[in-house]
Amino acid sequence: MTPALEMLTGWGRARRSPSVTWRAASPEDAAAALAQTPRAHGLIAHAGGRSYGDCALNGQGAALLTGRLDRILGFDPDTGILQAEPGVTFAQLMDTLLPQGFMVPVTPGTSFATLGGAVANDVHGKNHEAAGSFCRHVTELDLLAPDGALHTVGPERDAELFWATAGGLGLTGVITRVALRMRRVPSNALAVRRQRLPDLDAFLGAIDAAHGATYAVGWIDGVARGRGLGRGILETAEPAPDALPERALRRLRVPFDLPNLALNPLSIRLFNAAYFRSAPARGRSSPAGARTFFYPLDAVIGWNRIYGRRGFHQFQNVVPFDRGPEALAALLEVIAASGRASFLAVLKRMGAAGPGHLSFPRPGYTLALDFPAGPGIEELYAALVAITLRYGGRVYLAKDALLTADAFRAMYPRWHEFRAVLDRVDPGRRLQSDMSRRLRLREPA
Ligand SMILES: Cc1cc2nc3c(=O)[nH]c(=O)nc-3n(C[C@H](O)[C@H](O)[C@H](O)COP(=O)(O)OP(=O)(O)OC[C@H]3O[C@@H](n4cnc5c(N)ncnc54)[C@H](O)[C@@H]3O)c2cc1C
Repeated sequence: MTPALEMLTGWGRARRSPSVTWRAASPEDAAAALAQTPRAHGLIAHAGGRSYGDCALNGQGAALLTGRLDRILGFDPDTGILQAEPGVTFAQLMDTLLPQGFMVPVTPGTSFATLGGAVANDVHGKNHEAAGSFCRHVTELDLLAPDGALHTVGPERDAELFWATAGGLGLTGVITRVALRMRRVPSNALAVRRQRLPDLDAFLGAIDAAHGATYAVGWIDGVARGRGLGRGILETAEPAPDALPERALRRLRVPFDLPNLALNPLSIRLFNAAYFRSAPARGRSSPAGARTFFYPLDAVIGWNRIYGRRGFHQFQNVVPFDRGPEALAALLEVIAASGRASFLAVLKRMGAAGPGHLSFPRPGYTLALDFPAGPGIEELYAALVAITLRYGGRVYLAKDALLTADAFRAMYPRWHEFRAVLDRVDPGRRLQSDMSRRLRLREPA
């Protein structure tokens, strides 16, 4: 294995980090890369590259590319337990296990994310209230610690290291094996009900009433103002008994960075209005394939290039239910007034927080949307962070490249427990990232 020099980016492409890259094809390769990493800037795992910000970047340092660690090691249909290397993607799991009647219990909105990335951000899906986040379904992990020792950890085995690793941003070690309990499903299809709601009150009323649904997700028009503030489409879905024929997904490709003009306020307004009208006001159900429902954006390969060379930022937060309507109205006012929102915002409900020290989900409403990078974006992001803090919420680190260390500590009060684990397993600070330095994750208060 010889290292190379590469420019790595997050999915938002607003951050670029030149790095020494190692392409690991085995856990031994990962150990060799760790051993050869100079301590100055350390090493971080970079997997599917679907985190928007800088958690998988390590400018001037080393990055361990895990794409070749992509073997499914075993599957037991009696227990539903899957054993796999960390570079296995959700797409691979869908292709291999859905025909056998099994699905991942929790999936993010892209099938290009990997198991390692899903653990390190403790990702959530459209079923967080019922299913919790990803790591709740992980029974065991192999973790290559920064000193080269291999630890097997799980909820019942070195639980502290396991829960620091769940949402631990790749900083506790390199995950080399994941054991995950898969879920039995009746078919590859879901019955999806779509309904359009005219404003925020109606929207929140409908999503609250749908909390018993297996899956629920809302798409909000981030540019609508006045009486239409918070209007959107609510989608709920239940596993369906009858399978749909497997058709190869038709994929479009964005071949190059689009000029900045392509995404202008008028085109976004027109797109959002047309999308809003696409759902009936009284709601209607129709069957959809699992891939179509869970991964709508994957149909456009390289969609992140429509933001042009400057890239974009995604902002995702969660605000507690009790003052949620007030907080969301305040956020949407600032977003709509900025005139910078693009396409649709995603709104979901989240359930109980898990034990992961830096795990994002907590009970409340989570809102996510994209903004093209450019002058003024830092100020807009800071305004959204300030509202989030005022209402006792937090920002999702998988999406972030702009949070300050002080805001991070206010949002994630268990950060010092996390840092204590890092001090124990990585006293030499061999694992580092642009995010760990920006958020001062290794520094005392
Ligand atoms: C279109 C889209 C939709 C999304 N929807 C959701 C959603 O619904 N819910 C949600 O929670 N997230 C969502 N995300 C975010 C995405 O799921 C997470 O950022 C996820 O972590 C990406 O995984 P990845 O394999 O691309 O990892 P990367 O982005 O490459 O890395 C993410 C983190 O994992 C660490 N890591 C990766 N592999 C290892 C390893 N082997 N050992 C140790 N650490 C490792 C990295 O160091 C980094 O800190 C979405 C992203 C996109 C682009």
